[in-house]
Amino acid sequence: SQFETLGLSPSVLKQVLALGYDAPTPIQKEAIPLVLDGHDLMGLAQTGTGKTAAFGLPLVDRLREENGKPAPKTIRALILAPTRELVNQIAGNLRDFVRGTPIKVGSVVGGASINVQIKNLNRGTDILVATPGRLLDLVERRAVFLDTAKYLVLDEADQMLDLGFIHALRKIAKLVGTPRQTLLFSATMPKQMEELARTYLNDPVRVEV
Ligand code: AMP
Repeated sequence: SQFETLGLSPSVLKQVLALGYDAPTPIQKEAIPLVLDGHDLMGLAQTGTGKTAAFGLPLVDRLREENGKPAPKTIRALILAPTRELVNQIAGNLRDFVRGTPIKVGSVVGGASINVQIKNLNRGTDILVATPGRLLDLVERRAVFLDTAKYLVLDEADQMLDLGFIHALRKIAKLVGTPRQTLLFSATMPKQMEELARTYLNDPVRVEV
C-alpha cells in the first residue's frame, strides 16, 4: 500500500494492514514522514481526517525504536485532548497501533475513578492520553511526573482553548520540559493559538489539509 512509502517500520506497517487501512489520508501522507524525522508540527485538520493515525503511527514507531521502559509514575509521551470521549477514542486507536508490542497506553480523564488512575500510573506508562484538568490533578498528587516525556501532542487544541484550558496547557508544557517533539493539531487557528504555538513549538512545520 502507499503506507509503505512513508518511512514507517515493517512492524507498524503490519498493524496498519491489520486495521484495514488501505491508503493514507492527506494528513497522514504529509505528517507521518515529518514526525518520523523529528519535526515539530502544526497541523490544521478537522476531525475525521485521520489525524490520530497521522501522529499515532509515527509516535509508536519512534517509541519502539528508542526501546525504553518507563519508570514507575513516569511517561514517555503525552497526548492531551479536550474531552473524555476524545481521550478514550485516541487511546483506543493507539491500543490498536501498539498491539503485539510492549508499549503501554494509559488514559486519564475527569469523571472516572482517580484511585484507579493512580494505581495504573504507578506501573509506568509509555503513552498517556489525558484531559488537562485531570492530568494536573494527578501531577499535584505526585501520581505522575511529566519531565521524562519526549513527545507532547495537543489534539483539537482550539477546543482546549475554548474550554478554558490555556493555563493548564501552559503549566503542562512547562512540566514536560525540553528537548521534546511537540505536535499541535487544531481545526482553526485563532490568535491565541498562534501565540501558544510560538511559545511551545520549536520551528514547526505547518501542515494543512
Ligand atoms: P480520526 O480523524 O483520526 O478520528 O479518524 C477517523 C476515522 O478514520 C477513524 O475511524 C479511523 O480508524 C479511520 N482512518 C484513519 N486513517 C485511515 C486510513 N488511512 N484508511 C482508512 N480509515 C482510516
